[in-house]
This record gives sequence, structure tokens and C-alpha cells, in this order.
Amino acid sequence: MSKTGKSRAREKVDILILNADELVSLAGDNQKPRVGKQMRELGTIRNGGLAIKEGRIVAVGKSTDIAKAYRAENVISTNGKIVLPGFVDPHTHLIFAGSREDEFQMRVEGAYYMVILSSGGGILKTVKETRKASFEKLVDLSLKRLDVMLEHGTTTAEAKSGYGLTTRDELKILEVMKRLDQLHAVDVVPTFLGAHAIPLEFQSNPTDYVNLVVEDMIPKATEKGLAEYCDVFCEKGVFSLEQTRRILVAGKNYGLKPKIHADEISQLGGAELAAEIGATSAEHLLFSSDEGIKAMATKGVIAILLPAASFSLMGGRYADARKMIDFGVPIALGTDFNPSCWIENQQLVIAFACHFMRLTPAEAITATTINAAHAVDKAKEIGSLEAGKKADVVVLDVPNHKFLGYRFGVNLVDKVIKNGRLVVDREKQGETVFIREPD
Ligand code: FE
Repeated sequence: MSKTGKSRAREKVDILILNADELVSLAGDNQKPRVGKQMRELGTIRNGGLAIKEGRIVAVGKSTDIAKAYRAENVISTNGKIVLPGFVDPHTHLIFAGSREDEFQMRVEGAYYMVILSSGGGILKTVKETRKASFEKLVDLSLKRLDVMLEHGTTTAEAKSGYGLTTRDELKILEVMKRLDQLHAVDVVPTFLGAHAIPLEFQSNPTDYVNLVVEDMIPKATEKGLAEYCDVFCEKGVFSLEQTRRILVAGKNYGLKPKIHADEISQLGGAELAAEIGATSAEHLLFSSDEGIKAMATKGVIAILLPAASFSLMGGRYADARKMIDFGVPIALGTDFNPSCWIENQQLVIAFACHFMRLTPAEAITATTINAAHAVDKAKEIGSLEAGKKADVVVLDVPNHKFLGYRFGVNLVDKVIKNGRLVVDREKQGETVFIREPD
């Protein structure tokens, strides 16, 4: 820096990351999610570095410049590796008890999901087991899942309720989320999904269940500040467009931002409704109409695409991501982690998105970082590597970003830094730190 030979005193920081073959910053306009060609612009810095202090990124740039301006006791050299923002998973059903491997076998043998659901399996089986599970049991189960997510580079995860379907059990699940957010390094963004399925006891009078969601669950969940979003499984035979609108409007009146499980199994008009109601996101979108997709683009509704869900349903159908990108819809990608789609790993979601939806690795990276951060309304804090943002950083043991999607089925994570703390270090065995003290 100094041409006179005298070097200026270097500022002391907590962690320096230096010598990344590629530092994928995703720096740019954080006001809006990236659309169209912007999804390919990664803001990559070759031989990049960054400085972290008190949980925040203080500088990003060329490694040589960073090393001249800052010093730290903890210097992480990332030669031959790449550095990315921590992955954001904007769609999970994190909290449930039990498992459904028997149903998986039925699907392998050709059964359709809606048949499994109408025979008392699917969501309703998980509801039964989750109602029986205690608060502590659910916390325990979910912490292990968050460990796996963090180990695979996810530093923020949205979580949906929806396996309780009584006021008491939905509140229990939302309380579990709050506890997880306190206990675990991964930040948990809570979504109320009381309208996930019609519970058995309301099968003959579903309107009464919608009344319960609107008049009891939403007021109680928001009174305790337990949710940021309200979501509805809008689908033929589950919640109609009318019921979905009613629930999301009620949620909005209580300060919950709308999300919709839309057009997953049939074309019901969920995408259109998401645009009409000003939803933050519409999710799945396998069967959405062109009009619905265009309406989403006009209103800036984010499409959260979930290729792992398509993969696990084995129907061979995936959302038309290329068309959505052409129409100018911002795309985010999530796992849809749930007991019928058991995946905690956003790296594998990127691989699915590249192989089955023809997203380029760069588009898929944008969709799992900055656009996913927008999908949970946290893009001012996370989703890119820029001075002032939270220091949520992953180091991947690959030479460039095109290895994402290309090399799949193994964990590429070398290190994870969450809130400025090294929480996963796979280079050093036994260095993984998952749990933090409540703050
Ligand atoms: Fe889902």
C-alpha cells in the first residue's frame, strides 16, 4: 500500500481469510433479488480475502490488500479453495417426530403421494407422531438436523410448522424453533404453516379447521411473536384458493408475511394468488401457468424451487426454472427438508438444479445465497460477502465455483464460519463446534 516502504499499522481483526482461488462475493444491489442475467454475476474475486471482526465482515478484496491492511491471530489460508457466503435454506419443514421410510418404499414401488396421503399416511402420520412428542424431544431431534445442515454449509434456515395442526401443537413447534434459534449456530427463520393439511378430526368440516387457523392459531402465534411468515399448502384436495387467500390475508393483518406452497401437484392458480396477495415467495411451482409466472415477475414474488422434492416424489417433473428466469422471476432454491424428502444439504440441491432444471452453477449459487436471503427477508444481513454484513462464510475444498453441481454426492465443505466464529473445521478432525450458548 505504502510506496515509501513504511507500512501503515495494520488493524487487528478476529479472523482473516486469505488466498482464496475464488472469493464468490455476490456483492451488488441488496435491495432486490437478482433476476435474469444478474443471476450469473457472482462478483468473484480471484486470490480473494476477507477480514472478520466482532461477528461482522469488515473488508473484502484482493488477498494482498487485505493482508496489508489487517492482521489477526487466526489466519485461514484457502489456497486451492473457494469462499462463499453461507448457504441460506429458505424452505424446510425442520421440526417433526418419526420418519417415513416405509412410504418411501411404496413410492419406489409406484404409489402416488396423494394416494399415500388419503390412506392416512404422509403428513398425517407425521402429525400423529409429532403431537405425541414432547418439546424437549423435538428440540433434540431438530438440533441434530441443524448440525448436519451446518456441516454442509447452511448458516440460516427457514423452518415451517405444520405437523401439529392443533393450536397447542402448532405453538409447541413454533416454540421449538425459537429455542433452536437460541441454542444452535444456524439462524432459524420461523414460518407458521398451520394450513399444511386438514387434520383427520376436521376431514368432514374443513371450513371449521380454516376458522381455527384464522381465529385462534394466527392470533396466538403472533401474540407471542413466534412467526415471521404465514404459509399455506394450496392444493386440490387440501386448501383451496379461497381458503388460502383467507388465511394469508388474516396472517397479513397480524403482521405475518405471506408464502404459498403453490401449484406443486396441479395447476390451481397458486402463482397468480401469490402475485395478487403480494407474497414474499411462492414455492414448488411445478404446474404454474405462464400467466401466473408473469404475474409473479411483475410483482417481484420470489420462486422458491425445490428440486429435491421432485426427485423424491419420483414423478420426473421439475419446475420450469429456465422459463421463470426468462420471464424475469427471481429464483431461490431450498431443500424442502421434511420426512418424505430427507435432505439437509444445499450442495446437493444445487446439483439437482443444474442437472434437472438446467440452472448453471452460478445461477444455482445465487439462488442458494443472496436470492434465498431475500426469500426470508434477510438480504441486508446475509447472502453475500460484503463489509458490514454478518460473517457467515463457507470455505469449499474445490478450485472454482463450477465444481458446485459438477462434483456431487460428497460434502465439499472445508470450513464454516457463523457470526464470525469458526464452527465447522473439517480439515481438523474433532474441531466441529455446533452449539452456542443462548445469547
Ligand atoms: Fe414444503
